[in-house]
Amino acid sequence: MSYAISPPVIPSLPIIGSDQRFPVRRIFCIGRNYAEHAREMGATVDKDTPLFFCKPADAVVTDGADVPYPQATQDLHHEVEMVLALGGGGRDIPVEQAASLIWGYGVGLDLTRRDLQAVAKAKSHPWDVAKAFDHSAPVSALRPASQVKLDADTTLTLSINGQPRQQGRLGDMVHGVAEIIAILSTLFELKAGDLIFTGTPAGVSALQRGDRFHAELAGVATLEGRVA
Ligand code: MN
Repeated sequence: MSYAISPPVIPSLPIIGSDQRFPVRRIFCIGRNYAEHAREMGATVDKDTPLFFCKPADAVVTDGADVPYPQATQDLHHEVEMVLALGGGGRDIPVEQAASLIWGYGVGLDLTRRDLQAVAKAKSHPWDVAKAFDHSAPVSALRPASQVKLDADTTLTLSINGQPRQQGRLGDMVHGVAEIIAILSTLFELKAGDLIFTGTPAGVSALQRGDRFHAELAGVATLEGRVA
């Protein structure tokens, strides 16, 4: 068997303390997972119907590469989020078993073309053009789960050009990590290599060309880069 065109390269993330890389299969994201952020977007949290969307795996921006300012927007927004990397998967995973599927943790930006999202919301269109564009998912190196200890007070922060923009604590998530994995697995058969963006705290705002971002999941991972 040979391919008719060159097969696509498998996107991958660096791993802290290792020369190996983590291959990315799919990217799932949950929306409105911090009540304060839902409020700033003029939305409410519907705990019974979590909002999920996807980005293509090759939307990841890795190894500190520049993020090109995307086409077709005048309002590119940052959303800092904890990122889960799955080492296993399944369907209908019980919440008690869900955490054991997490291979590692990182921090990422769910970049959003906010103007296109506003149009999509107004017209009841899907969010793909707002969320799933090229280079829309800068992600840090991953730290293996065996080295990670998270609690409710673990902070997620983002500063732009040295100025604090977003800060949240994991205890403020509407759905915790195990719950997110369990719910997602009722909708999709999860697989090793899948990434999950776990939602953003309040404080989202616009990025400009030339901005430098510094995102941190305290004690776990750091993401630095620049909008080019
Ligand atoms: Mn988000």
